[in-house]
Amino acid sequence: MTDALLADVAKLDAADPLAGFRDRFHLRDGLIYLDGNSLGALPRSTARRLARVVTEEWGEGLIMSWLGADWSRAPQRIGDKIARLLGAARGEIIATDSTSVNIFKALTAALSLRPGRSKLLSEAGNFPTDLYMMQGVEAFLGGRVRAVAAEPDAVLEALDHDVAALLLTQVHYKSGRIRDMADVTRKAHAAGALVIWDLSHSAGAIPVDLNGAHADFAIGCGYKFLNGGPGAPAYLFAAARHQTATPVLSGWFGHARPFAFEEVYEPARGIERFLCGTPPVLGLAALEAGVELMLEADMAELRRKSLALGDLFMERMEPLCARYGFTLVSEREPALRGSQVAYAHPKGYQIVQALKACDVIADFRAPDVLRFGLTPLYLRYRDIVETVERLEKVCATKAWARGEYQVRAAVT
Ligand SMILES: *Cc1c(COP(=O)(O)O)cnc(C)c1O
Repeated sequence: MTDALLADVAKLDAADPLAGFRDRFHLRDGLIYLDGNSLGALPRSTARRLARVVTEEWGEGLIMSWLGADWSRAPQRIGDKIARLLGAARGEIIATDSTSVNIFKALTAALSLRPGRSKLLSEAGNFPTDLYMMQGVEAFLGGRVRAVAAEPDAVLEALDHDVAALLLTQVHYKSGRIRDMADVTRKAHAAGALVIWDLSHSAGAIPVDLNGAHADFAIGCGYKFLNGGPGAPAYLFAAARHQTATPVLSGWFGHARPFAFEEVYEPARGIERFLCGTPPVLGLAALEAGVELMLEADMAELRRKSLALGDLFMERMEPLCARYGFTLVSEREPALRGSQVAYAHPKGYQIVQALKACDVIADFRAPDVLRFGLTPLYLRYRDIVETVERLEKVCATKAWARGEYQVRAAVT
């Protein structure tokens, strides 16, 4: 790094109103972590909170903690906190199950609200689990409902009067491209369809206004930008007007009176009907710590910094694109850009492995995309400049060509 460049980024970091958040995370010195969109970093408060939940609430309180430590209301309580990040009202979000399972619940709820319609629509290239869950619903219903994946640019034209639900990801997991939630929702409603928004790469990354967009359902991950920990519970949003849908996953925690142990299922009146079984208390405790930390940050400030980090990244990458053949996959236009930048390169997988050896963690998405997640709470401007310098070195020395980087690992 030249002295002038060093001074420039030092100035940006010194003026950064979010700079103080970095210390709230456990991050090893020297490591540059650009994968918070896959697994968020560990908030220091999470380690303390989990220790307390395990030793005091579980160890000492035992089963009394369902009431004494309010375990039983954790899905609603945390859902209400997530609602503040997503423009939803109290009682419209529940923290529960995985994103995949919640997709199933939202798809089947939407089908029950649109009887007589027989299509579930999404886009080709959506995150695979979203498409797989639609295909599973099709198979389960014996083909009475069809799962359709239209080309991304043609999704809105595919909205005919047979579509019950449109399932789209607001920020695309690979390109980071943002869909206009209000506009798409309006067009889907005009065709009589409901919309299910996957917010996995939106929550904690960009401002979201579910009710402002008249969204119907939404789901998303707890372990990405919300920093809820590996395999954290996900969340499900059902607009208050749709909380009459009868759940297909009719577990006892979604019953109107779970502890009456009645034989016949009767769904709870509110968002609780989208619960299924016993809440995962430890996972929820970690998720709550991550969400609380996120709530301390100003979302407009977060978005501003995210875009500035992305601008700096793309600017520093320009010479590498020309020299080493990287192609920008993400959008330049701020309104269309989520909190990541992505480049395509034929040796993308090997380059990501070689970067890891230089203490830069990014990730690779088949077939050729290098993804750099931008998490404004714990990334500094100087990390961006440093990343591109280490990447340049990997390219200049062809460090990626080493034998051990050529074989694909099971998890990328
Ligand atoms: C990460 C991600 C998921 C993951 O679903 P899980 O059930 O948590 O494994 C689903 N959809 C999208 C769009 C994602 O980005």
